[in-house]
Amino acid sequence: MPKLASYNGKVDSIENIKVSPMSRAFLFSDSVYEVISFYKNKFIDFETHLDRLNHSLNETKISCSIEDCKTEIVKLLNESKFEDGYIYYQVSRGVDSIRSHFFEESDCERFGFIEEFSFFNQSPLKVMLVDDIRWQRCDIKSTSLLGNVLQMNDAKSAGCNEILMHKNGELTEGGASNIFFVKDKTIFTPELSPNILPGITRHQVIKIIKDKKLNFEEGSYGMDDLKEASSIWFTSTTKGIVGVEEIVNLETKINPECELLEICKNAFIKRYFS
Ligand code: PLP
Repeated sequence: MPKLASYNGKVDSIENIKVSPMSRAFLFSDSVYEVISFYKNKFIDFETHLDRLNHSLNETKISCSIEDCKTEIVKLLNESKFEDGYIYYQVSRGVDSIRSHFFEESDCERFGFIEEFSFFNQSPLKVMLVDDIRWQRCDIKSTSLLGNVLQMNDAKSAGCNEILMHKNGELTEGGASNIFFVKDKTIFTPELSPNILPGITRHQVIKIIKDKKLNFEEGSYGMDDLKEASSIWFTSTTKGIVGVEEIVNLETKINPECELLEICKNAFIKRYFS
């Protein structure tokens, strides 16, 4: 069955959507995006995703009404028959008359599609530790993901399904997720900075950790912390919380059985998926 999609507010089968090759999304990757999950037809943390989309739009100076985005995302969900899944939604600066780095005032261009998805089949991840070769504004959820794409595909060739990035030895995040690790019964995560995306799932997991009064610290961490970790987790909208079984290029002490991971996972499922 063809995917259902939305282009500038019009919902149609994805095959019927025509996008100009002069779109700045196509020419420059001049666009920002969100991935928003829904369960039993209800969005999870919708307003938080819209706030982050608004942040990305403001930081990139793309002028677009967040209310229009909201209406279009809701319309896409309402017109689909899916109960559980996610919506990918991007906003570009619009269509150029000539290709120029200098942008002019133009109408933004909005595109989204809906995907059916089951959230409960996540196997532990095999990951590769890699250099973070991305730009210095990773707090913006930009579609310019070449750094992630190249590193993730190198890792795939080594049998991995995620990467764990570090910038000059300082841990940042996964290729499409945030990271947590456990050491001495405390849960750690890299603090927010322009080098990481403020993940919505990261935020949800931190709320759970704080509600449960588990030992927790946000800060700056390196490879030695990973070597000492007893458990490493990745979080994202589509992964939820998932443990790591192996870092292929680093010797660690990680054990897939982790009591703190189970506590957080169970609370996460109870809070958002029941
Ligand atoms: N970090 C990066 C680079 C990502 O691409 C993503 C999700 O796509 C995340 C973190 C996790 O963010 P969220 O929990 O909002 O899905």
